[in-house]
Amino acid sequence: MLESVLEKLKAHFGFESFLPGQEEIITAVLDRKDALVLMLTGGGKSLCYQLPALCSDGLTVVVSPLIALMKDQVDNLRANGVPAAYLNSTLTATQAAKVQGLAKSGDFKILYLAPERLALPGFREFLLTLEVSLFAIDEAHCISEWGHDFRPDYRTLKSLRRDFPNVPLIALTATATDQVQSDIIAQLGLNEPGVFLSGLNRSNLTYNVRPKKRAFGALLDLLESHKNESAIIYCFSRKDTESLAEDLTGCGMQALPYHAGLSRETRRANQENFIHDRVPIIVATIAFGMGIDKPDIRLVVHYDLPKSLEGYYQETGRAGRDGLPSECVLFYSFGDKIKHDFFIDQIEQSEERENEQLKLSQMVEYCELTTCRRQRLLAYFGESPWETDCGGCDICLTPREQYDATEIAQKILSAVIRTGERFGGQHVAQVLRGAATKRVIQYGHQELTVFGIARESTDEELKQITNSLVSQDLLSKSEGSYPTLSLTLLGKDFLKNRLTLMLDRPKSVGEKAATFDAEVLAPNLELLEMLRGLRRNIAEQRGVPAYVIFGDASMLQMASYLPQSNESFSRISGVGRVKLEELSGPFLEVIREFAEANGLQETSITVRRTRNGRTRDSANSTLNQTKELVGLKLSIDEIARRRVLASSTIGSQIERLVQTGEALDLEHLMPPPERMEKIKSAFLRTEDTRLAPVKELLGDNYSYDEIRMAHIGLQQKGIIRRDSEGSGR
Ligand code: ADP
Ligand code: ZN
Repeated sequence: MLESVLEKLKAHFGFESFLPGQEEIITAVLDRKDALVLMLTGGGKSLCYQLPALCSDGLTVVVSPLIALMKDQVDNLRANGVPAAYLNSTLTATQAAKVQGLAKSGDFKILYLAPERLALPGFREFLLTLEVSLFAIDEAHCISEWGHDFRPDYRTLKSLRRDFPNVPLIALTATATDQVQSDIIAQLGLNEPGVFLSGLNRSNLTYNVRPKKRAFGALLDLLESHKNESAIIYCFSRKDTESLAEDLTGCGMQALPYHAGLSRETRRANQENFIHDRVPIIVATIAFGMGIDKPDIRLVVHYDLPKSLEGYYQETGRAGRDGLPSECVLFYSFGDKIKHDFFIDQIEQSEERENEQLKLSQMVEYCELTTCRRQRLLAYFGESPWETDCGGCDICLTPREQYDATEIAQKILSAVIRTGERFGGQHVAQVLRGAATKRVIQYGHQELTVFGIARESTDEELKQITNSLVSQDLLSKSEGSYPTLSLTLLGKDFLKNRLTLMLDRPKSVGEKAATFDAEVLAPNLELLEMLRGLRRNIAEQRGVPAYVIFGDASMLQMASYLPQSNESFSRISGVGRVKLEELSGPFLEVIREFAEANGLQETSITVRRTRNGRTRDSANSTLNQTKELVGLKLSIDEIARRRVLASSTIGSQIERLVQTGEALDLEHLMPPPERMEKIKSAFLRTEDTRLAPVKELLGDNYSYDEIRMAHIGLQQKGIIRRDSEGSGR
C-alpha cells in the first residue's frame, strides 16, 4: 500500500492500520477495478470507498437507501475534515439546489444520494456534468428481488454503468446469498469485479441463552452491569414493549418503547433520544433497528424467543458495531415457542406454515444446545464449523466436566419405555421425579416402577440429560409441536448390554468473564465518565450524536493511557488531523487535571494494531451485592434467589471474597460443629485443596455444598491453605 494512502488513513480517520479485508478492497478500487464487497456489520465497509475518495481527483458518489444515516455519515466525515454532503428528500428544493451547485464547482469529495434522486427529471443530466471518480452502492442487496429488502428505486442504478462506462463501481452489503450476489453483479453491470467476502463471525459478541425464569430480575442485573451504556431489548408484542419499558422506568432505569404502532413523532423522538445517548435503553419490537447505525450498543436482549435464526443473527448484529466487546442475551422458555406455534398454526398456506415451523424449531434447538452456540449460528449460514471452544458463548464460557451418566441415562430410557414411547421429555421427567400431576394420574403413571426413581434430580437437569441422550442418538425425538421420545437401536443396545455412558455438564465455578483477543485496556473509570460527559456536551453543542465526536474505542484509550501532550493525543486511535486540532484542547485539559489531582502519569501507547478490548467492572459490583446479602445473614439459597443466580455461583463468589481477604461473618453458613469437625479432619488428612477426595472420604452423608462451605470457612480461619486460583471442585 502506498505511503500516501496510509498517511491519509491516519490524517483523516485517525487509524494506524486496516481492518481485515480493507487493504485488498481499497487497493482494487484504487486500481479502478469494480468490486463487490460482502462484509459483516461493523467490518468497516465505509472506509473502503471513503479512503479511495480522498486519494482520487473528482467526486465519489455514494448511493444509500438509509436516509436517516446519511446525515450521520456526513457529520462524521466533516468532523474528520472531509468535505461531504448529501442529497435526499429531507432537503428543501433550495437546499438541494445549493448542494448541487457546490458539487458542480468541485467543493465536495463525497456526495451521498438517495436512490430515488436518480429518477428525478434532470438529475441524470446533472450527474453527467460532474467529474465522478467512483460510485459506491451501499446496501447493494436492495437491488435484488431475491434479497430480503428489495427496493424498486435501486433498479434505476442500472443506468450508471451505461452513463459512466469508465468510472469504477463498488457494491457493498452485509448480507447476500450466492443468488443475490450474482444478481447484484448482473443488475449493476459490474465488469469482472473483484469479489471480497468476509466471514460472518462477530468475534466481539458473546452469545448467552438463559432460562426465562425470574427474567425481570435477571434483566435488571444485566442492565445494571451495562449502566450508562446503550442497550436494545426486543419483545414479541407491541404491548409488551410498552409495559416492559414502564416496569424498567419504575425501577429507576431510563427506557423508551419503540414499535410500528406508535405515532411517527414518538418513534422519531424515541429513536433520536437513544442515538444521542439521552436515554440508554430502548424496548422494541423487531421494527426497530433497520437503519440504526449506532456503533456503541453494548447489550442486545431478546426477552422473548425470536422466530428464526436469521432474525436473531441480524438483531444481535446491531450490538458492538465498533468492534468492542458486547453482549447478546436471549431469555428462553418453551412456553414462548408455544406462543409462536399459535400464530404459525393460523397461516393458511401450507408451504409457508411448514417453513415457519422449521425455522422456529431450529431456533428452539439453538436455545437447547449443549454445544457451542456460535458454531451453530455460523453453521446455519453455511460457514465451516468453528473450533470447539469459541470463548464467547455461555456454553464455551462455562467450564464443563465429564461425569458418569450411566445410571441416570438408564432411568430416563426405562421411563420412556415404561410410558409407552408416546410422551415428551417433560412428562417423562415428571414421572421420574415422582410428580403426581394431573396428566400423570390420568395415565396411571404413578403406578409404574419408574415413578419417582430420580427424585433428587431437577426438571432442568433431566431436560439437559434428555437432550444429551437425543444428541448422542440414544433417544429420538419426533417432529412437530409436541415431540415425543422413543428409543433408538443404540438406546436399546445401551440398556440391554448394560453399557456405560459419560456425558459432560457445566462445572459450577461461578461467572467467568469473557476474554477477547483484542488489546486489553484498563481504563480509569472515573476519568472515562468525565470524558464521556465532555463528549456529550460537545456533541449536543454541535447537534451530532456523541459517537461522531469520538467512538468508544478512542475514549477507552484516552482513559487508559492518559495522554497529556498533543503528540501522545494524536496517537489515540480515531484522532486524525482535524480532531487533533479541534478537540485535543478540551480533552487534554480534563485528562491533565485528572492526572494531576490523582498523581497519575501518562503511559505510552504501544500496541495499536488491534482494536481495543475493554475490561469489565461488572464482576466487582456483583461480588459486592453478594457480600451485602451475606452480611444480612441470609442462607445461600435465599441469596441465590434474590440475585437470580445459581447457588453454586453464590458459593464461588463467597469463596472469591474470602480469598481477596474480605472480612465476612460466615458462621451461619457453616455446618453444625460436629460435622464441621469431620470435614476439617478429612481436609487435613487428604492434604488436598480439592473437594472431590474429601467427598470420597466422607461418603454420601455429606453433600458437596456442605463440604464446599466448610472449605471456605476453613480457608478463612487459615486452617487450610487459601488457594488463590480457586479450589478445584
Ligand atoms: P460497516 O458499515 O461495515 O458496518 P463501519 O464502516 O460503520 O462498518 O465501521 C465500523 C467501525 O469500525 C466504525 O466504528 C469505524 O470507525 C471502525 N473502523 C473502520 N475502519 C477502521 C480501521 N482501519 N481501524 C480502526 N477502526 C476502524
Ligand atoms: Zn461457543
